[in-house]
Amino acid sequence: MSPIAEIICVGTELLLGSTLNTNAHYLAQQLAHLGISHYYQTVVGDNPERLKQVLDSACARSQLLIFTGGLGPTPDDLTTETLADFFHTPLEERTEVIDLIRQRYAQRGRIMSPSNRKQALLPKGSHLLPNPTGTAPGMIWEPRPGLVLLTFPGVPTEMHRMWQETAIPYLKGRGWGQQVIHSRLLRYWGIAEAALAEKVHPFFQLNNPTVAPYVSYGEVHLRISARASSVAEAQALIKPVEDKLRHITGDDCFGADQDSLASVVGDLLLNQEASLAVAESCTGGGLGQLLTGVPGSSRYFIGGAIAYDNRVKVSLLGVKEETLAREGAVSHSVAMEMALGIQSRLQTTWGVSITGIAGPEGGTSEKPVGLVYIGISDENQQARSFEFNFGSIQGREWVRRLSAHTALDIVRRELLTALKK
Ligand code: ATP
Ligand code: MG
Repeated sequence: MSPIAEIICVGTELLLGSTLNTNAHYLAQQLAHLGISHYYQTVVGDNPERLKQVLDSACARSQLLIFTGGLGPTPDDLTTETLADFFHTPLEERTEVIDLIRQRYAQRGRIMSPSNRKQALLPKGSHLLPNPTGTAPGMIWEPRPGLVLLTFPGVPTEMHRMWQETAIPYLKGRGWGQQVIHSRLLRYWGIAEAALAEKVHPFFQLNNPTVAPYVSYGEVHLRISARASSVAEAQALIKPVEDKLRHITGDDCFGADQDSLASVVGDLLLNQEASLAVAESCTGGGLGQLLTGVPGSSRYFIGGAIAYDNRVKVSLLGVKEETLAREGAVSHSVAMEMALGIQSRLQTTWGVSITGIAGPEGGTSEKPVGLVYIGISDENQQARSFEFNFGSIQGREWVRRLSAHTALDIVRRELLTALKK
């Protein structure tokens, strides 16, 4: 049975925000890779009292405590002595550490400073966790049965090497970390996190695999994570749950793992031997950028127009002057005429268009900032258009990003419908 681990990073610089806690990120990935669960991560300043409070809780809920930081020679480096004090264990000087530090300094033509002796003090009964690239060694210590402490210096490169060379073999030697945690990400567009969660909430009770929702830049994700003795075994646990989730959520799920809306649209166009052209106003080429970001997109993406000014909408796309005068550039009719215009001029199977008010200026009570029309014209030159209000609060880039991605999602859904006909 693997222990429950806990990551405790010591350092006031982490609390001040002057250092990004990459050690926790690294250790979390490493633990997941080894299949060792951890339920808590803590950051605590260089303060013995608060570190002891953290220890109080950590010892009660976890069996493997992993510390980084505070092993150095300066008076603010307090991790080792605070741990010894907490477990009422005396420190003893390890001569082999002193010798090592002295050697290191000698190699660099320097003399060891008296404060370095502090780094050779380790609690009685603990084992040295050697540091091949720095002066501060760590330790492996079992202060009482069933509780293991590992300490590492704060410097990430030193910590990584010690983790790989000493900690992993130690954990495996104890029969821990024999499992893997493997995840699969289902990606959604066009459904809110709450609505998706409502549809699939019974799955959140599952234990292995677990299912959890996330939001990321307008996308919603369901992460399915399984623990098993191999990746293949984890995948076998994930597969039936993924199938059920996909069945329940239907076309809202656009892909998994590395898929993007643009790559999925590309695959559908390729499969249907279809081509696409774009006419963009407020996104200024953002849709074209997403499409061309996919390698091989030249096989289905022909090109498009950035029709920002109304004159370009008329001259390049054939949008009618009277439509513009009657309904304004941001309207259903103009979106449809733009899509039809680019489709017929570039002779593609599909045409898609975006016209909207990205803000922050230019909104009216009738046509507020965030109002966007997306037009699409199909293989029979039939155009449709969809109205969205992406709001003004999150700003111009957000409106542009949502517009371009939503246009891709509309193309995707149209292609899926065409496939089912
Ligand atoms: P040293 O012997 O260098 O003093 P130490 O164990 O005392 O090592 P700290 O003094 O806490 O470690 O930190 C040393 C360096 O490592 C600092 O520059 C700090 O920014 C960086 N560091 C500390 N903790 C972390 C962390 N959790 N993530 C990333 N970097 C960290
Ligand atoms: Mg230090």
